[in-house]
Amino acid sequence: MKSNTTPRPVLVDGAVYWADGGRRICLRCAGQSALYTGRDLSGQRVERVTVADVRAWPDDLGVLCCEARCTALSAVAGPDGWPLERGDVW
Ligand SMILES: [Zn+2]
Repeated sequence: MKSNTTPRPVLVDGAVYWADGGRRICLRCAGQSALYTGRDLSGQRVERVTVADVRAWPDDLGVLCCEARCTALSAVAGPDGWPLERGDVW
């Protein structure tokens, strides 16, 4: 067990993740548990939202974003293949 290293977030800024019960979280609003372990409070690994997820998101639910609305995603894939963050929504 390494105790002398500063924990670093395992979540990526500008990404949204599926957490327990279909809740959506991002780096900015995730709890400490999810932020540093990639697991939510129930111990499930959070799954990063993909471009396919964004495309499958129903229009009537609005833009796919985290529950706290600090990060919203577009259906456009960035250079790394993950959806780009929308900066134009809020
Ligand atoms: Zn958020």
